[in-house]
Amino acid sequence: MLSRKPSLGFTLVCVSLFMAAVGAILGLGITYFHEVQNEKLNISTDFRSKAANLAQRLHPTYISQLETAAPAAREEITAFLESLNYSGPSSAPKAKITIYQKADQLSRPEEVYTTQSDSFDSEDVNSIAELLLDVITTGRPLVRGFAGQSAEPISAPTSRSGNSVSNSKATMMRAVFPVHMSGDPTYLAVEAEVSPGLLKLTSILQLHHFFPLVGIVPLLASLIFMSTWFSSRLQGLAQGMNTVAEGRYDYRLKENGPPEIEKIHASFNIMAESLRNTTDQFHASIKEIQIAKRQAEVAKEAKSDFLANMSHEIRTPMNGIIGTTSLLMETPLTSEQKELVQIMRTSGQSLVHLINDVLDFSKLESEKMELENEPVDLISLVEETIEMFAYYAAESKLELIYYVEKRVPNMIFGDRERLKQVLVNLVGNAIKFTNQGEVIITARMAARETEAGSESMIRLSVKDSGIGIAPENQERIFEAFTQADASTTRQFGGTGLGLAISRKLCNLFGGGLNVESSINQGSEFSFDLPFREVPQQGSVKPQHQSENQKPLFGKRAVVVTGNEALTGLIQTYLENWQMEVHTTRQIGPNLAEQFISFNPDLVIFDPNIMQVEADMQAFMQKIVGANLPAILLSTIGETSLRIDESRFPLVRTLFKPVSELKLLKDAVCMVQRKQGIEVADDAFGDADSENAVPKNRFATRYPAKILIVEDVMMNQKIAGMVLEKLGYTNIEFANNGEKGVNRVRQGDIDLVFMDLQMPVMGGIHATEAIRKNFNLQRQPIIIAMTGHALAGVRDSCMAVGMNGFVAKPISVNDVKNAIVDAMEGSPAASGASV
Ligand code: ADP
Repeated sequence: MLSRKPSLGFTLVCVSLFMAAVGAILGLGITYFHEVQNEKLNISTDFRSKAANLAQRLHPTYISQLETAAPAAREEITAFLESLNYSGPSSAPKAKITIYQKADQLSRPEEVYTTQSDSFDSEDVNSIAELLLDVITTGRPLVRGFAGQSAEPISAPTSRSGNSVSNSKATMMRAVFPVHMSGDPTYLAVEAEVSPGLLKLTSILQLHHFFPLVGIVPLLASLIFMSTWFSSRLQGLAQGMNTVAEGRYDYRLKENGPPEIEKIHASFNIMAESLRNTTDQFHASIKEIQIAKRQAEVAKEAKSDFLANMSHEIRTPMNGIIGTTSLLMETPLTSEQKELVQIMRTSGQSLVHLINDVLDFSKLESEKMELENEPVDLISLVEETIEMFAYYAAESKLELIYYVEKRVPNMIFGDRERLKQVLVNLVGNAIKFTNQGEVIITARMAARETEAGSESMIRLSVKDSGIGIAPENQERIFEAFTQADASTTRQFGGTGLGLAISRKLCNLFGGGLNVESSINQGSEFSFDLPFREVPQQGSVKPQHQSENQKPLFGKRAVVVTGNEALTGLIQTYLENWQMEVHTTRQIGPNLAEQFISFNPDLVIFDPNIMQVEADMQAFMQKIVGANLPAILLSTIGETSLRIDESRFPLVRTLFKPVSELKLLKDAVCMVQRKQGIEVADDAFGDADSENAVPKNRFATRYPAKILIVEDVMMNQKIAGMVLEKLGYTNIEFANNGEKGVNRVRQGDIDLVFMDLQMPVMGGIHATEAIRKNFNLQRQPIIIAMTGHALAGVRDSCMAVGMNGFVAKPISVNDVKNAIVDAMEGSPAASGASV
């Protein structure tokens, strides 16, 4: 866009012209003023000398000639009057001559002769009379004019006359001269008027007065030249700046010209130089950053590889542990052994999940973590979490309690593993930082206001009675790698990562993770879980169905535990089942007798409140002897008090944590048994669905000749055992891909479990080789079996033609599902599932 403002050069020229005009006007004004003064002085001088001249020539004869009207004298007087023309050449003079005489000293002078030009019309006779009087008094001639100066000889002016002499506006000049001659004193008075037109600008200023103005012309020319030059230098500077702005930092201006311009150009050059240096540094920094970025990317890849390999290495032994437990669960076990194996399995699985979480940590960091949306049974999730810690809690003599509010739905949609990860972290911390007392997990309904209205949520909290967290640390602990107190690292271990991950996950769930805590009193971590309920038929939980609770209605129970919270929880449950509950904290020597005489329908008792083992034994013997139905609370690994249930059918051991369903089942079972009614194990409709179909029938439904291609002996064994559990026989093994390919080539293999990482030939290449062998009568189903948990591995398996994927550590269920999916979904399956 063009600027409408005039250029600097043009402005300078205009200003110069204006200033020159002002100068010329000033100069001419002063000249004019000076010329007017000169003109006035000239006229005054001329008037005075002419009047004086006439006065000298006056003598009696001349005066009498005037009186007698002698033509010569009159002509001279007329010529004199003419000579007093101060009205310009074309106009008539305005003048008057008067001669006064007085007879003696005292008389007043009288007019003896007067003559005037036709145009003279001054009526002011007083002025001349005043002058006359002054001249008579002083005896000296007197002139008054308009120039403000009096001609010589002039009397010392009186203040009055002085004033009138200096009146520059006066246009009338007056002179009175004493005429020196014998006879009567005679005076000549001359008056002449000066026309103002004589002093006009046009008549005073002449061409030569304008000559000095010629001096302005070179000044103007130099100004125009300078402004043009200055303007061009400025444009040069602007062009230089543009060039530098475009990135040509090597552009320089010539350092010449006047010092100021030289200095500006030098400064510009310094600026361009420093810009070049800064830009060079900037480019160097960018290069460094790019290199660092590349290195970081390489390091990130290395980290991913490292995590992948680590995960693989950890998964292999975990495969052994979990696979073994899964097989162990299939063998006949006592209820305690079952609990122990279950704990082993769930802990192992949690470790595997932890590895997955570490793998996903970078995802979480970059907020790319995606949550699953599957049906989750909250109670079983909480129980599973608690079971993982039951052993530790018992070791530290901590009560691990949970309570799920009745209103909380059975099944919700959510990400089970992530939810469990958060709970595991919170419960783990709570146990770690609590020396005595209890850890309580609760799930209650809560609500929050949103734009769409009130939204109900499940508030999950983990409360402990531990060391607590100082207020100043309550926010810090959620930062990654931060611990409330550095000394806790030594005492309790830990990485400081758990809460950071948990909070991020809770944020992903849609409710933040918060803590309330007081030092030495305990902490409560809680988060809200917005949820969507899984639509279910008959969604009332078995423990809340009144027909299940019915046998307990109106029955009396005595509850004795060492922990108030636990007693309270059991009391709440029992009262919900309409039982009459009695609790006591008095543990006297006659406790058993008191119970027996009270004769309750059920005794719920934690023997650990008695310090001495012999007391416990004695107490139980009395209870058993009195045939009182009793539930003995115990913990896994507790060996001090064991009751043989086959010998004493009215006593049952309930392993903590006390779940509502377990308690109901045991309570109903004991109360009913006392009345001679036997309750079936699956009476509450909660049979394990996993066990519903006998496994050895599976192989009959999905028959196949199986080859396991796996290099690690232990894994071969576990996979083999898992498949045998499903009813498969004659399973074959190959310990690398090449051997696997050769075996398949020989024919009759329907199903291959293929490890990926193997010496000689990996699973991917082996699969490619098998799929490219068109001579095969039929292609087998190939299921990948790998410890590689990285996303993308599954895709590459599918890309080379595999039909399924089982992640190590394998479980019976995973293998079952993979076989079903592959055989029912794969085209190869039609040939396999004969
Ligand atoms: P870690 O337990 O591996 O150190 P976390 O992120 O899970 O890492 O916890 C960070 C810190 O927060 C812990 O080191 C501890 O100081 C504090 N903290 C967490 N939970 C509790 C708790 N229940 N009671 C007291 N302090 C806790």
